[in-house]
Amino acid sequence: MDDIFSRLENLKKERNAVILAHYYQDPDIQDVADVMGDSLALAQHAVKTDADVILFCGVHFMCETAKILNPRKTVILPDMNAGCSLADSAPKEEFKRWIESYPDHIVISYINCSADVKAMSDIICTSSNAEKILNSLPKDEKIIFAPDKYLGSFLKEKTGRNLLLWNGSCQVHEIFSEKELVKLMTRHPLAEVLAHPECDENILRHAHHIGSTTSIINYGAKSNSNTFIIATEPGVIHQMEKANPRKTFVPLPSNDGCACNECPHMRLNTLEKMVSALENLTPEITMEEELRLKSLAPLERMLALS
Ligand code: SF4
Repeated sequence: MDDIFSRLENLKKERNAVILAHYYQDPDIQDVADVMGDSLALAQHAVKTDADVILFCGVHFMCETAKILNPRKTVILPDMNAGCSLADSAPKEEFKRWIESYPDHIVISYINCSADVKAMSDIICTSSNAEKILNSLPKDEKIIFAPDKYLGSFLKEKTGRNLLLWNGSCQVHEIFSEKELVKLMTRHPLAEVLAHPECDENILRHAHHIGSTTSIINYGAKSNSNTFIIATEPGVIHQMEKANPRKTFVPLPSNDGCACNECPHMRLNTLEKMVSALENLTPEITMEEELRLKSLAPLERMLALS
């Protein structure tokens, strides 16, 4: 019987499929992916691909984004239950009522939100391009930023814009422990701390570099330091170790020292579920055309500004 890797390879050819994977996936999934990236890179690749099928190894909102950009392609994901606490923190009706109470504000939403929230937004952003997008707006523009309050606070500080923030957060990034970070910094006094802006300010204030997963990976490669403490989902460390075998990357633990710094949603995807998805072309992302068109407009504004 063929091993799982040959089965995946054969199915990929049969289906004319491309495998896109986020950096927070298990290392074995990262190693079979055709394209690795953060939300922005994967969204950009989803626009360019000429494959008939996109097998998206990430979470539901990312697969929705691929579908919004590729209505004619079949977009499948390994596990339909791979959601996102941050996207779930902005339920459609509640969000609608909230933004309607600020009719003079424009709505910028982080890509980690549902298609329904995207459809109610003026521009989408990612952690790679949020600053650039905010700076492209007039200085006196009234802006709602959703759903991540930590990224919002970081951007408020960085750009000096008066952002009105939705109270959402990522369950992985908000529980990193400052106490553990200080202990690690004492144990590795020459280490640089690299943090994702979805983290709380009590982590960000120790960071030598704050940025998207891609910028964290790039910073680790370019820096002359040999040791890094990584304050984001530890899946990124796989790519960092592959590219920099002589450097040391230490994952920051969460508050109770458990493995909750791994995203439980991302980690639902497995190689076996990828094979099953390609064999059966399910679970598949489908969407009403009206919702797709409404959520496409703010995504296209983001891609034009990126
Ligand atoms: S790491 Fe956080 S923001 Fe990313 S998918 Fe998981 S829950 Fe959502």
